[in-house]
Amino acid sequence: MAAVTTGQRSTILVVEDEEGIARMIQVLLEARGFATLVTHSGDEALGRLAVHPVDLVLLDVMMPGMDGYEVCRRLKADGRWRHIPVMMLTARDTVRDKVLGLEIGADEYITKPFNTEELIARIKVLLRIQGMSQALVRRNRELQALNAVALAVSRSLSPDEILGGALTCTLDTLGLAQGLVHLVEPKSGHLVLRAWRGLAAEPGEALHRLPPGTGWTWRALQQEEPLVLSDAAEGDGLGLASGNPPRPVCAVPLWSHDRGLGVLTVVGRPDQQFLAEDTALLAAIGRQVAMALENADLYDDSRRKVQEFEALYQLGRTMASTFNLQDILSRISQMVSGLLHAQAMSLMLLSPDGRVLSTAAGYNLFDEALEASEAIRSRQGSSPSLIAVREKRPVAIPDIAADTVYAPWLQAAQAQGYAAFLAIPLIAQDRPLGCMNLYMTERHEFDQDEIQLVSTFASQAAISIENARLFEETRQLAITDELTGLANHRHFYHQLAREVRRAQRYKRPLTLLMLDLDHFKGYNDQFGHLAGDQALRETAEVLRRNARDVDILARYGGEEFAIILPETDLDRAALQAERVRASMAGHAFRGKDSNPQGDLTVSIGVATLSPGMRKIEELVHDADQALYRAKSGGRNRLELARPGSRPADAT
Ligand code: GH3
Ligand code: MG
Ligand code: MG
Repeated sequence: MAAVTTGQRSTILVVEDEEGIARMIQVLLEARGFATLVTHSGDEALGRLAVHPVDLVLLDVMMPGMDGYEVCRRLKADGRWRHIPVMMLTARDTVRDKVLGLEIGADEYITKPFNTEELIARIKVLLRIQGMSQALVRRNRELQALNAVALAVSRSLSPDEILGGALTCTLDTLGLAQGLVHLVEPKSGHLVLRAWRGLAAEPGEALHRLPPGTGWTWRALQQEEPLVLSDAAEGDGLGLASGNPPRPVCAVPLWSHDRGLGVLTVVGRPDQQFLAEDTALLAAIGRQVAMALENADLYDDSRRKVQEFEALYQLGRTMASTFNLQDILSRISQMVSGLLHAQAMSLMLLSPDGRVLSTAAGYNLFDEALEASEAIRSRQGSSPSLIAVREKRPVAIPDIAADTVYAPWLQAAQAQGYAAFLAIPLIAQDRPLGCMNLYMTERHEFDQDEIQLVSTFASQAAISIENARLFEETRQLAITDELTGLANHRHFYHQLAREVRRAQRYKRPLTLLMLDLDHFKGYNDQFGHLAGDQALRETAEVLRRNARDVDILARYGGEEFAIILPETDLDRAALQAERVRASMAGHAFRGKDSNPQGDLTVSIGVATLSPGMRKIEELVHDADQALYRAKSGGRNRLELARPGSRPADAT
């Protein structure tokens, strides 16, 4: 007979009170290659079962004390033993006895004296059925475990929740307490600890980050199938000492398509062996978890895409609703901070000559950054924003404290609690317009996707900014006088109508000055038309110097100017008009030095809005009338409109 290895030999527990028969059966079974355990009473049999696994019980019925029926009843009532086949062996062969035995749960019944070949054949059949049902039970257990893991991982699309759920579920299924999951960090290739259960102490730094190429996790990842270590002490970093008996470890790589995503590690019980069926189950769980992670990744990708589209869509809407540059800048600031969950953001623009980069808008911004204005330098030693603009590339600083480039700003930014920084250039038609700066309160490794996201947004934003600037320029051309840069005649009336409406609605004062250069024809004749033009430009300068922010200055016609003074009554307007007159008289126009006659002065008519006025033309008319009187009164002077001098009364 071929020798059989213990591992494959089935063990049969013989329960027989008669020593002779027991001995005979034992010899018989062992001769046929079975391992045996012999006991002589029910109690002894149950005691052996508790400590020794067996594949079949050969059970005598009539025994002193507990009889075979009772032993069988107890076996079948116990979850640990229910699956073990029981063969009753007795001299009683009435049908009633057989039925009773089978009802209690015996799987087979054989009567003494038995035929040896029949006994062996029946044992073999029972064991074969047993093997098949064991496989089914195992398969069922696997399916249940997989099902549970699938359920756990499908509850969430967040990688950490997936890993936590899968780990708990896996440990429960295997009846284990300790386990952990590492995921590969794409940039560094490090395996980073993402979930753990049942570790005695808080996992140490060594366990948190496992560098590529080392340790048990790396080996598992390389071989693409579960790696079993017989002693947990071999898992460097696990922090488990070699126990007695040692505990095994099984490390399951999480592979999705052609990518190793991470490793799930479970620690076994002391002296446990991870059998092929266990590792197969763990491998299946690993595939399940990897798939869930992949889905979460896809979801994350598509969510990012949606976010990107959403931001671009919003930007498009803003563009459609306004051409106001400042509006656009501040909306861009808000949107882009939301995009990366940045705590603050600044938007810097290059001056038209391309020499100075200064903050144009911000979101949650601190003063130093808000007032930032830097000359573009061609050499190094400049700020990250300057580098981003000059080199037309993103500059990411995961930790500002650790980067010398950020040093000039470090103090101010740290005072605000910022730790990470990202500058993305705004480029339209290959020309840098400026940059966007993002501030984050946590150290942050910006990944490629994030930079891509903000860059896509930035290129769209740059186009919007460029368009708004063009629009602004065109608009300026349409409303300003080219020679002096003041509002033109058309825009003057537009502004006047608006200011008058406002003043009337809120019952606020408003005064209008009309100005006309004295003897300008003579000035032109004397110094030439170009000098005349220059004098008009200088006049505009003098007017600007004497105006408040709210005043509206216009070139009304050739050498005539108008000033709208909101919130100003006649008396205060008269003071302001006098200042203008005096400044003009004191200004050194081109001809003044060469010819005292070349001095230029101005006459001013002052009219204020009165409650009875119906049309803005009435106000302009009043101012004109006053100007006329200033001229006829000798020039270089001002006159106030006389209330009630309506066009109807005018001469
Ligand atoms: P008065 O004190 O009465 O206002 O005398 P005046 O010479 O200023 O008045 P008048 O209206 O007769 O002449 C206006 C002159 O302003 C005529 C024109 O040559 C000159 N002028 C108007 N527009 C321009 C301009 O754009 N450039 C130059 N150089 N001169 C202009
Ligand atoms: Mg004139
Ligand atoms: Mg004039």
